[in-house]
Amino acid sequence: MIKLISANWKMNLTPSQTESYLERFLPLVKDVTDREVLLCPPFPSLCVAQRMLEGSNVRLGAQNCFYEKKGAFTGEVSIDMLKELGVFYVIVGHSERRWIFGESDELINKKLTACIETGLRPILCVGERIEEREAGLTLKVVETQLRIALSGLEAYTDSIDIAYEPVWAIGTGNPATPEDAQFVHAFIKDLLSQINPERKGNTRILYGGSVNPSNAGQFMSMGDVDGLLVGSSSLDPDSFAHIVKSF
Ligand code: PEP
Repeated sequence: MIKLISANWKMNLTPSQTESYLERFLPLVKDVTDREVLLCPPFPSLCVAQRMLEGSNVRLGAQNCFYEKKGAFTGEVSIDMLKELGVFYVIVGHSERRWIFGESDELINKKLTACIETGLRPILCVGERIEEREAGLTLKVVETQLRIALSGLEAYTDSIDIAYEPVWAIGTGNPATPEDAQFVHAFIKDLLSQINPERKGNTRILYGGSVNPSNAGQFMSMGDVDGLLVGSSSLDPDSFAHIVKSF
């Protein structure tokens, strides 16, 4: 299974900044063929990124989508709109969507269903908050998030990737240990096998939360860490290229 190294720029980098970023970044990673590299810019930067990524080895992703096809949903973006811009992946259920914008597991399930119906590959984010971790609830929280998100999609687990992102590790400079990540990733894979006994094992489990050029290789050395989802450290092209090549 090819590893997936993804950048989540969040609400950073305007279209012109995206252009400068890619002028620097693409030559740095042009020889990378044994892993998949993905950039998820904000919506207004997708067009310029699509143009610049054409013919490159770097794929384009989005940070969010809506589940309806079109209509009176002010401020939302459909999957067809994203696909027309060359978007291949979409992040669904990021903890900032859950905790700042109130996205529920049920809404996330609708988005995942729409992605699978239309062939856009979702990266489903799950992870516990600090109080849940301290109460020993990490696995229970992750299991509940996954079971609801995948409800009705049990046969399609091979069509999605999953990012384990402990909320307390995101943007804090305080990552999980590689061993903790490995433990939860192995649990997620076991759970997927229960949910879909027919699964072929194509679901990559990414780790996200304060990954940087110094710790990326340690995460990637864990047997069940199949990739990374990188926020802050992906905003600098040199730093993200370093992460891409760190294992
Ligand atoms: C993220 O937002 O998905 C993330 C992992 O952020 P950071 O790398 O900044 O912790």
